[in-house]
Parts: sequence; structure tokens; C-alpha cells
Amino acid sequence: MSAIDEIVLSPDPRLKEQCARIEEIDGSVRRLAKRMLRDMYAAEGCGLAAPQVGELVQMVVIDVDYAGEDGHKNPYVLINPEIVEASEETRPFNEGCLSFPGILVEIERPRRVVVQAENLDGDLMQYEAADNLLAVCLQHEIDHLSGTTMVDHLSPMKRVEALASYQDALESGARPGETDHD
Ligand SMILES: [Zn+2]
Repeated sequence: MSAIDEIVLSPDPRLKEQCARIEEIDGSVRRLAKRMLRDMYAAEGCGLAAPQVGELVQMVVIDVDYAGEDGHKNPYVLINPEIVEASEETRPFNEGCLSFPGILVEIERPRRVVVQAENLDGDLMQYEAADNLLAVCLQHEIDHLSGTTMVDHLSPMKRVEALASYQDALESGARPGETDHD
């Protein structure tokens, strides 16, 4: 099984679950982080949440700087992340998701967020992002930990449309990381 085959695709019920807090950062947590980073880079995604590899725990990995094989890697591992501040002002962004290959959907989210999370050393870290891919990615990935996916932010009509395009993309063989499948 390749790294990409490990990615859980919608409508898998594991994408709808509340994930458990990680109480202790042990070897299995470090191995999970490594596996998630491997899968994220293999699919050329900018973020991945633990339920997307079938593990219902509160961990996400993000790298918004990596751009293909020659890219410089700058991975973040966020354990038990929490959004502690979000702006009232929102901003639309075309989002993709490794669990919804083949589609991009425009989602409106707060333009600025502050996130607190532990890193793999157990240190409490704070991340602040505004008007950029990191701001979107943090919110998108943290959503996954409470069973929320990007299509849940759409109006009922737009959701039906997005799910129909997703179905078409899957039927024509779209794979995680592909967002422009015809
Ligand atoms: Zn996603």
C-alpha cells in the first residue's frame, strides 16, 4: 500500500468523529507524526489531520512552504491544537482536501487566527496567521479533529453541488492531492 492509499476518503465515517486529546507524547505519537508527514508530502498536500489516516486523535501536520520535490520542508506538528482567537472579518479561499480528491471549493473563514498547540517535545506553541494559506490551513485541519470537513461550511445547495463534483471526480479516478481532475 502506498502512502497515498492510506488516506481516508469521504464519506468514510472516521471523518465525522470527535478526536481524542493526546495525553502523552510517546513513541506511538511520534511515529504517527512521521507517518502523517510522509503521507502529506506524498500527496503534495499542505496539511493533514490524524483522522485522515484513520487515527482519531488530536494531531495535525502542516507545511505551507513545501512546493514539490525541490521544495524546502518546514513541517509543523500540532498536538491538541485549539483556536484561541479568530477575527470577525472573514475571507473566501479556494480549498482542497486530501480526503476529497478532485475538487476545490470556496470557503469563507475568519481571515486571522491564533492557535495554541503542543509540539512533539510537549512545549506549548502559539501560531498566528492572517490572510494567507497558513491561516486557512490551520482552520481546515483543526476542523477535521471535531469531525468537520470543508463541505460542512457550504450552504446546503452548494454542498450538494460539491459532493456531486466529488463523486464525478472519484469515478474518473481522482487521487488524493489532485484538485483539477476532469
Ligand atoms: Zn482536509
